[in-house]
Parts: sequence; C-alpha cells; structure tokens
Amino acid sequence: MTVRSINPRTGEVIKEFVASSPDEVRASVAKGRDAQRRWMTDWSKEERIEAVFELRAALQAMKDELMATEMLEGGFPQKDVVGTYNGVIKGFDHYAAEIRAVDDYDFPLDPAGWPETKATINLVPHGVVGHIGIWNYPFWQTMITMIPALMAGNAVVFKPSELTTMTGLRIKEAFANTSMPADLFQVLVGGPDVGKAMVTAPYDALVFTGGRGTGLDIMRNVGVKPLVLELSGNDPGIVCGDVDIVAAARGVASGAFSHGGQVCIRIKRLYVVRDVADRFISELLGIVSRIDVEQQLGPLIREEARARVHEKVRRAVHEGCELLMGGDKVPSKGYFFQPTVLKVTDDSLEIIKEETFGPVLPIRVVENEEEAVRLANDSDYGLGATIWTCDPVKGEALARRLEAGNVWINDHGRTINCGELFQGWKCSGIPSTNRRITLFMRKRTIIDHVSCRPRPHWYS
Ligand code: NAD
Repeated sequence: MTVRSINPRTGEVIKEFVASSPDEVRASVAKGRDAQRRWMTDWSKEERIEAVFELRAALQAMKDELMATEMLEGGFPQKDVVGTYNGVIKGFDHYAAEIRAVDDYDFPLDPAGWPETKATINLVPHGVVGHIGIWNYPFWQTMITMIPALMAGNAVVFKPSELTTMTGLRIKEAFANTSMPADLFQVLVGGPDVGKAMVTAPYDALVFTGGRGTGLDIMRNVGVKPLVLELSGNDPGIVCGDVDIVAAARGVASGAFSHGGQVCIRIKRLYVVRDVADRFISELLGIVSRIDVEQQLGPLIREEARARVHEKVRRAVHEGCELLMGGDKVPSKGYFFQPTVLKVTDDSLEIIKEETFGPVLPIRVVENEEEAVRLANDSDYGLGATIWTCDPVKGEALARRLEAGNVWINDHGRTINCGELFQGWKCSGIPSTNRRITLFMRKRTIIDHVSCRPRPHWYS
C-alpha cells in the first residue's frame, strides 16, 4: 500500500510513501515500551523536561522547512501556519510547568474509620501512547499530544493522517536531533488500514483526532483502555440584538471561513436575532465578498472533500435554502471553493444538523436570544460556540447555558496554552475533563496500613 502527499493548491502529487506493515505496527509497541522504561528509569523528571526542550530547539532550527512543508501539503495560508507554530513553541513552557506541578499527594482519611492508615495518590505515565493524527492542523494537532505525553513520561507512536505524511516525518526528523531514546517517538505511515491496526494493537492508551464516524468505529474496536477522542463539531454562533454589527461581522467572517472552513472549532451555523439580521447579513456579505480565496482561505484538502461540500450546498439549495453568496468551485487547478453563505428556515436540514468541513455558513434568523440558545443546543455536537454581544453580563449568562466544551464571547477559535483545557461535549469527544498533562497519566492509589499489627476486621 502507498499513500500520497498532494499539493491541494495545484493537485500535483508531491511524494509517495510506502505504508507501514501490520508487523511494523505490532513491533512499534515493544520498541516503544523498551524506550519508555528507559525514559522513566534513566532520566529524572527535570532531565526529561530538558530533553523535551531539545525538541523545541530542533523545531526552531527547522522552522522554515517545517512551515513550508505544512503549507505545501496542507494548503494553508502562511498566517495560519505561523500562528499555530508560535502557539506550539510557547506550549513547551506551559507543559513543563504542568508536569513540574504533578506530584504524589496524600488523600486525607478519617482516622476513626481508617486508624493507622494513609492513602497516597501516585500519578504515573500510561506507557506507550498510540496517536492517530489528523490533517487539518497537522503540526499543532500532533504537538498538543506529543509534548504533554512525553513530558508525562510516555512513549508515543504517531500515525499522521495519510494526507499530511510529510509534516509527520518532519516532526520525526526534529525528534531525531534530540537525546531522547530513539524509539520514544515513532512514526508509522499510512491510511485507515494502518489506523485500524493501531486501534487493536496493545498500546497502553490511544489518542484519536478526526471525524465522529471514525471515532465511533474506533470505540467499537479498541477494547478496554484509556481513550482520548477529539471529534467533529458543529459550532453555533449567536449574534445578539445589541451587537456591534461591523466588528461582529468581521469576527464571524473569520470564525466561519478561515482555513477554508476546515477547522474543528469554526462557526458552522449562525443564529442572528431578527432586529439586526438584515444589517448584519449585509455587512457580513460585504466582508466575505472581499476575501481573497487563494491567499486568505486556501483550498480544500482534496477534490473529494470539495465535491462533498459542493454536493451538500446543492442539496441545501434544493431543499429550500436561499443562496446568498458563493456555492460553487473556484475555477483553478487547486481545490478552492467559494465562501458560501446560505439563509435557512428549516432547522431539520442536514446543512444545520451535520458539520460541513468547508467554507459554508448557514444563517438562521431567530426572534430572540432565547430561541438562539434553544436551537444552538439542539445538536448532537458540543465542541465550541460563540456569542456576539456588547453586553458582557448577557454574554456570560448565555455562555453558561451553551452545551459546548469551549465558548467564546466576541471572539472565536483561540485555544488556551497549546490545547490546554480544550474539550468536546456530547459526541464531540471524550474525556471532557482534566488538565491535558493528566490525560497522559494514570493514577495509582496506595493504601498503606502503616503498622504491621493485625486489623480488627481480619479473620482470626
Ligand atoms: P478521518 O476521521 O477520516 O481520519 C483521521 C485519521 O484517522 C487519519 O489518520 C486516518 O488515516 C485515520 N482513520 C481513518 N479511518 C480509520 C479507522 N476506521 N480506524 C482507525 N483510524 C482511521 O478524518 P476526517 O474526517 O477527514 O477529519 C475531519 C474531522 O476531524 C472533522 O469532523 C473535524 O471536526 C474533526 N477534527 C476534530 C478536532 C478536535 O480537536 N475535536 C480537531 C481537528 C479535526
């Protein structure tokens, strides 16, 4: 089996790769386990942190090649690549501080029920973490697992998406320039078949970022092990009646269309209160009409992805949505699609109910903010949501009623400290709690009867 990296701006094949074999997938577990044991026994915590910082230095040394690869293979505008690169570089400091703060702690026991006993909570790494990666921010999405997982003491076996293999291999190249054990970070190459083999391989924990359907398939096959799923979203945006129309229209346009709409947390359906709807929509259309598709949006990742988006828009129009702007491919060798705005009245349509991973924004005019919150929450997904208002009290009150793991008021899509606290509710992911470093650790509770005298409840 081979996989291909393609330049989505031109459709040209950049490189072909031979996929990893089932034997290589199996072997990665033992190799990772051996490296991880040495990582935990031969390095102190501070030495591990220092060694992970060597990775940061290696990534900085190859910044230009790394960003060029991501832009070439992922079709990104430069601004997106620079932003995520800078976020990752800062993330090393954050996760170093997080792991330094992790320590064993005593759990207080009531001496009446637990005489002469102490309980200690001990946090330890899982061991070997399998990571099945995604293509839409291939550097960022890899690093928000790789940095905390390594800092926490794990080995990582990573499979980049078959659409962005080259970026995955660049990260491996940077890793090779560090003093960490060679197999502490391994890269497997391939598509769904290699992903499936990883799901059933005996890694100690599995991380997956991608579509909800793939996530469900993984859940059916993974067996019993710690599982982190970061899945699809269908984020609502709410434009309130008191909004600053010009500012909010700019924010919504970037929240809906950046990176060609191929962002898990983007505004994928917009609820606009009737009082401001005409003025807001007209302002938004003006901004969207000025977007330079090739420079500011970029292409969709593949022709199949563009065809899917196109078909979905056509279906929505056929089902009665009003096409306000766009709706078609951009004539070009690359997989560009026009930024598309639709007006919707039927909440049961697929264009509202299911995520569109492309530059499409369905707008639904609502009577008031109550109706907006009700419709926003009427979804299987719960990844992100945005609220646009000039009233901070109202903004926060509405935010507290939204069923989503990440809510922005008067902004969109900026995550805290390299993926920290990022979480999906409902079918957008598991787990939905925890600091990120502790996702890569398990807890051992040690209950110690501090004396060796017999206990009253024992057999005599
Ligand atoms: P996908 O789910 O098809 O593929 C993702 C990865 O899974 C690839 O590496 C692929 O090779 C592998 N894979 C495919 N089928 C598999 C299987 N049956 N078993 C194991 N591995 C398998 O990717 P996609 O659907 O194109 O990704 C886009 C989706 O990802 C969107 O829905 C987006 O919202 C979501 N996403 C979510 C987040 C998040 O943090 N929640 C981040 C980025 C993207």
